[in-house]
Amino acid sequence: MIFSEKHELIRKLARDFAETEFTTEIMDELDRTGEFNWEMHRKMGKVGFLGCKIPKEYGGQGSDYMSYVIMIEEFARISPVFSIYANTSNSLGGGPLMLAGTEEQLQKYLVPTAKGEKIIAFALTEPGAGSDAGGTTTTAVADGDYFVLNGRKTFISGAPMADYCIVFAKTDLTAKGSKGISSFIVDMKLPGVSLGKDEMKMGILGYPTCDVILEDVRVHKSDLLGELNKGFAQAMKTLDGGRLGVSAQSIGIGQACLDEAIKYAKERKQFGRRIADFQGISFMIADMATELAAAKELVYNAAALKDKGAKEAAVACSIAKYYASEMCNRLAYKAVQIHGGYGYIKDYRVERLYRDARIMTIYEGTSQVQQMVIAADLLK
Ligand SMILES: Cc1cc2nc3c(=O)[nH]c(=O)nc-3n(C[C@H](O)[C@H](O)[C@H](O)COP(=O)(O)OP(=O)(O)OC[C@H]3O[C@@H](n4cnc5c(N)ncnc54)[C@H](O)[C@@H]3O)c2cc1C
Repeated sequence: MIFSEKHELIRKLARDFAETEFTTEIMDELDRTGEFNWEMHRKMGKVGFLGCKIPKEYGGQGSDYMSYVIMIEEFARISPVFSIYANTSNSLGGGPLMLAGTEEQLQKYLVPTAKGEKIIAFALTEPGAGSDAGGTTTTAVADGDYFVLNGRKTFISGAPMADYCIVFAKTDLTAKGSKGISSFIVDMKLPGVSLGKDEMKMGILGYPTCDVILEDVRVHKSDLLGELNKGFAQAMKTLDGGRLGVSAQSIGIGQACLDEAIKYAKERKQFGRRIADFQGISFMIADMATELAAAKELVYNAAALKDKGAKEAAVACSIAKYYASEMCNRLAYKAVQIHGGYGYIKDYRVERLYRDARIMTIYEGTSQVQQMVIAADLLK
């Protein structure tokens, strides 16, 4: 892909920020404590990264999908978890609002999110409804000017810090499957909203995840987002964009794995030679570079299709997410292998990259879900 000058400038801006601000000390602390870094969040908001894809009239930068992908890739190359900080507002948090919000909702919720003053989480998954998100059992029953929400959402990224949460709930209790679901903007301070324990995760530590429990939560009808009973389509559309974000994270992680593997292979000596001189190592590196290059083309192509508003964009995002997320896990595996025993030790970057890569094939639709989406498109 040959980038425009504008996109090259965005890459430079994001790269300079990541290389300067995401210091080893800060990233180590994040990984050790698992706590959200509010200062970094504020800094990202100040520079405008949190509003990258949000229209200018709502406090964002109004950039295109290509710029967004480049920003996420560059952040993930240095810190996969900090790339999530910049992702949420532009994607799962702000995305449903950009798709379906009224002017009043956009002013009230999207504007402060774009500036980093508020955080919005996205709550679709439930304990019994993961890949089969249409199996939502959370209910929202109309009662005068309110909807009364009951249910439990699980693995909600950012819920512990969130001011608001986009909650998907069944509003037509007689409708089957994914029909009859609506989405709501839920203020996390409303009576009846509570949080589960912070999950102890394998990777992406520093962006807490927990359950959101809703017990007789009264949400005003002005906080119904989009049309009644049309929430599932909104969730799926939001996830198209979200998958592009995860595929961008994946190529960033892949690049970091390749860079670390090359550096180490040139430094480390065994049998009196650099390990880079052994074909068993150099061919692994050649394979890594080839797979990464292929994944990048898929991701940039999906971004270009999204920018064009092409109808093939949705499946292109699934293809990019499927390939890039699996690719970054293969690269993380090989990067650790090339480091030998040192790759298993926390002092070496590849140990964390290996753990951070693992979620890429799982969240925002597992690889098997992407296969289902791709196959359904081809075989309809
Ligand atoms: C760290 C983290 C952050 C997350 N953040 C969020 C968030 O912010 N908001 C949110 O709503 N959710 C979030 N999730 C949830 C995530 O999207 C789900 O975990 C994911 O969609 C898979 O659902 P599940 O875990 O219930 O797995 P399941 O759906 O139970 O899947 C288990 C396995 O079965 C496979 N499988 C399922 N159905 C099929 C099928 N039909 N054919 C073939 N294989 C199948 C899956 O691919 C998987 O391998 C997060 C999860 C994690 C771990």
